Amino acid sequence: MSALILDGTRIAQDIRNEVAAEVRIMASAGVRPGLAVVLVGHNPASEIYVRGKVKACEEVGVYSEKLTPSEKAPTSELLAVVEDLNRRDDIDGILVQLPLPSQVDSKRVLLAVDPAKDVDGFHPMNVGFLSTQRPGLVPCTPAGVMEILRRSNIPVAGREAVVVGRSDIVGKPAAMLLINANATVTVCHSKTRDLPGVCRRADILVAAIGRAGMITREFVKPGAAVIDVGMNTVTDPTEFQRFFAGNAKREETFLKKGSTLIGDVHPEVAQVAGALTPVPGGVGPLTIAMLMFNAVKAAKMRRGSGVPELSRA
Ligand code: NAP
Repeated sequence: MSALILDGTRIAQDIRNEVAAEVRIMASAGVRPGLAVVLVGHNPASEIYVRGKVKACEEVGVYSEKLTPSEKAPTSELLAVVEDLNRRDDIDGILVQLPLPSQVDSKRVLLAVDPAKDVDGFHPMNVGFLSTQRPGLVPCTPAGVMEILRRSNIPVAGREAVVVGRSDIVGKPAAMLLINANATVTVCHSKTRDLPGVCRRADILVAAIGRAGMITREFVKPGAAVIDVGMNTVTDPTEFQRFFAGNAKREETFLKKGSTLIGDVHPEVAQVAGALTPVPGGVGPLTIAMLMFNAVKAAKMRRGSGVPELSRA
């Protein structure tokens, strides 16, 4: 058996097209959603992510503004930046790109973001809204996981879901969304006993661990849907061979770039799973698509108008 590969790139493009259509309708009513991205210092990975977010805004018609406080900015300066954005009516979403430099109290800065503009969905008020099934802003990556399931017609209600990982930004909100969608949910972490045995119970297995290829075939019930959130960079040729020996396309990229991306799920799982998200091209593209969705959702909620129905789960 070979798993159905779930095309996250296509699903993300569908969502972006829907968001762009929504933005056009809002424009005809004189409203343009606005997203502010706060990028502190010069972290190369953060700069790439922010570039992708700004480009996505352009594509869907959301106004974007990049603020770039210096690497040495103290907490007080960032709080002032956030408070100014909170006050501005043309800004519907505020995204503070993480990680922040070590001198900054990140939790204080994130807590200062107006929950109505918290497009990352990290504010405790939005966490509470999610856990009590009230309308709010949902973290983008877990919301993307739910969209992949929904748009791939993978049933969730009544099924066993296992989430490996309990971070505030992926594991916990993914578990909450699955509970809200009526799955029976188990959350695993580094202290879980018999992890392969627990994972094998899953009809839906979500891996959000940050360990290259850790989920091997013995973790997977035949036919299960496996959603791989992990994004790990492999640079060691021996490790590369362990995962991708015989994969000519990957070998070509690896030789050219000296690295390749792998998820938390071993490629051999494709022989056991019923459906599987690839890395790259699975969950990754959904994160930015859902950010665009959240920017529009925030703009609508702030104006008291109806919210698009996308991630209602
Ligand atoms: P994180 O904060 O480091 O959390 C990792 C979780 O995995 C923790 O709960 C940890 O358990 C658990 N874990 C670690 N080793 C384990 C083991 N050997 N057995 C069982 N559980 C283990 O990571 P994160 O921010 O949630 O991200 C997870 C992965 O998703 C990373 O690869 C990240 O790059 C990726 N990611 C991708 C996207 C995307 O857009 N596709 C977005 C965000 C994150 P403890 O709690 O016990 O330590």
